[in-house]
Amino acid sequence: MSKHEPVPPPKERSVLGRNSSYKDYTKSWVSGRKPWRCSAHHILPVSCFKLHNIKCSPASKKYYVRRCLWVSKYNVNGGTKFAGLQKPIGENNMVRLPTKSGYTKTYPTPRRPKYKNPHPENECMHSGSWSEHFLYNKEVQQWLNDNVWKKLQENKAKHQGKGKSILADLQKGEKHFRDELVKRGKRNDGTKACWKDKNKARRSLPFSMASTIGPYKTRNPV
Ligand SMILES: [Zn+2]
Repeated sequence: MSKHEPVPPPKERSVLGRNSSYKDYTKSWVSGRKPWRCSAHHILPVSCFKLHNIKCSPASKKYYVRRCLWVSKYNVNGGTKFAGLQKPIGENNMVRLPTKSGYTKTYPTPRRPKYKNPHPENECMHSGSWSEHFLYNKEVQQWLNDNVWKKLQENKAKHQGKGKSILADLQKGEKHFRDELVKRGKRNDGTKACWKDKNKARRSLPFSMASTIGPYKTRNPV
């Protein structure tokens, strides 16, 4: 006798898992080697939508949250499913970021003292080796918890059948973290100043996706 909007069949649910189309919805995407080594980043990472990463109290409420997510018509890859509701390319959930070798292969080294062209500038690295992506994911999980999941739990009655407002909240998250990545790449006078000055304090900062510099080595980002 549930008053909930019925759970839609899998084909009609939100797309919450990575699929191969995500690069097509990444602005300026050419390949992982052009214009420099790079990869496509899910601004709200796919792992944040996994059941075990949805933090609720009591924990059983995560099933309710997932059910709300399913009806929200969200597409984590920015793809064509629910096309009219998704943000256009460049404002959606996908962004291109240089990898670590996007910098090491184009910025000056003792053997090659000049910048190679083209080269990235003031863009956070997607594959740092100091757990930056891991920390970034934790920040996004916290943001989603504070700004979306909690609201759903508290206003269970009010949110019935409000898939659209959940979509809008997720899109606010996309914008928030897209803007953060832009700001973060410019920290500490930016990537070039930090690359050049070996004695500069916290010179890894503009290269980090996270709010700070990762403290420990970790596996590859998710
Ligand atoms: Zn990523």
